[in-house]
Amino acid sequence: MSNTHTPIPISTAKTQTWQQQLANAFTDIDALGNYLSISPAELNLPTQTIDFPLKVPQSYADRIEKGNPNDPLLKQILPEQTELTEAPGYLSDPVGDLEASANNGIIHKYHGRALLITTGACAINCRYCFRRHFPYQQQQLSKQRIQNALSYIENHPELSEIILSGGDPLALSDERIDHLLQQLKDFTHIKRIRIHTRLPVVLPARITRQLMQTLINSGKQIIMVLHANHPQELNNEVADTCRLIKQYPVTLLNQSVLLKDINDSAEALCDLSEALFDIGVLPYYLHLLDKAKGTQHFEVSESEAGQLISQVQNRLPGYLVPKLVKEISGAPCKITVASTVMQS
Ligand code: SF4
Repeated sequence: MSNTHTPIPISTAKTQTWQQQLANAFTDIDALGNYLSISPAELNLPTQTIDFPLKVPQSYADRIEKGNPNDPLLKQILPEQTELTEAPGYLSDPVGDLEASANNGIIHKYHGRALLITTGACAINCRYCFRRHFPYQQQQLSKQRIQNALSYIENHPELSEIILSGGDPLALSDERIDHLLQQLKDFTHIKRIRIHTRLPVVLPARITRQLMQTLINSGKQIIMVLHANHPQELNNEVADTCRLIKQYPVTLLNQSVLLKDINDSAEALCDLSEALFDIGVLPYYLHLLDKAKGTQHFEVSESEAGQLISQVQNRLPGYLVPKLVKEISGAPCKITVASTVMQS
């Protein structure tokens, strides 16, 4: 691995546009290690290239504790040797996305709502991602495919909600988002647009007044579901971004993934819920890991998860307790995982 990335001084990074920050994201492990004062010997790095490369914007890297190879944010983005090991039950398509795909960028699994794969691009590559093997080239919205997707939506009047997903839909330019939303505007049966995005957390500069106005101009109810897993991710910049979002009529929720050695403690989960609420975001879902190939080192067992959520319930008011869920391929909805009261 060569050191191809020249770290940008923080003050410079903050003056860059979100597109420049995205283009300058770390993609080289040695460069990131240098920046974080962590030597390769302290890390369990892969011995061969993994086709899901390192990608992390500097604004996120700045929240990783320097010199700490066990930092909970670093663990979310650092490729590991374990990813190259096969594990029983870990699949390329763990939640049956391809089976539920109408081959036009639409994934229609659940009654009343359908998901639109808008792009394969993300600002960050999360190692636990359940779509890390997804064939985006075959599914993302090319100009040709978008007409098929729109016809599908038009011909399914039972749909009331479209979920923009990816990749990360906010990795698209404002112009492309606007174009898509304006085409959805004519469908009166579509009441809500839900946007699943990690960008406000990992690259807060992406959220601008222009983007927010573009979303509002859709004429639909907007629900933005963020993706933060650990309270350390929520720095002042993210807080300011959420406050900006809250100036518009947008429902702001968060979903997390329960990840071993990252947020698998009642303390981390409670702190995350409190930190989210402080910046105007309601905890929505806590997902069990979807078993994508190469992610087995992140697994927290269902029984352990049940005990953890029970501890969280004992400490927090109900509105701060995310719903613990898992996704089962072919099921008509997410499955709630019961909390388990620990016996003393
Ligand atoms: S941002 Fe979301 S889609 Fe992109 S790599 Fe992370 S978890 Fe996967």
